[in-house]
Amino acid sequence: MISMGTMEELHSHNHTLALYCISCNRWGEVNLDRLIQMGKGNKSVTEARFRCRDCGEIVEKQVRPPVPLLGGAVAYIKCRLTKLSIRQSDQSSTMLKR
Ligand SMILES: [Zn+2]
Repeated sequence: MISMGTMEELHSHNHTLALYCISCNRWGEVNLDRLIQMGKGNKSVTEARFRCRDCGEIVEKQVRPPVPLLGGAVAYIKCRLTKLSIRQSDQSSTMLKR
């Protein structure tokens, strides 16, 4: 079993910790190298709290696994949500009500 309860364990398994401020709608990422160098590697991931440097609100955390590489390039999934598909689902839900 792999344990990733601390910042150091997260880092050793090539995971990152993203931060999201709901108020500012802004993403950031914890500098795990720096945190470990500061002697906070044994800090609990779940108990750690971070504040937005812009507004001071406590931010949401998101543990992120390593980004998979495909032939040396970063793999990604293209997702497209069109207004048409939203309208179609709205119509079908309206039709269900009648
Ligand atoms: Zn903020």
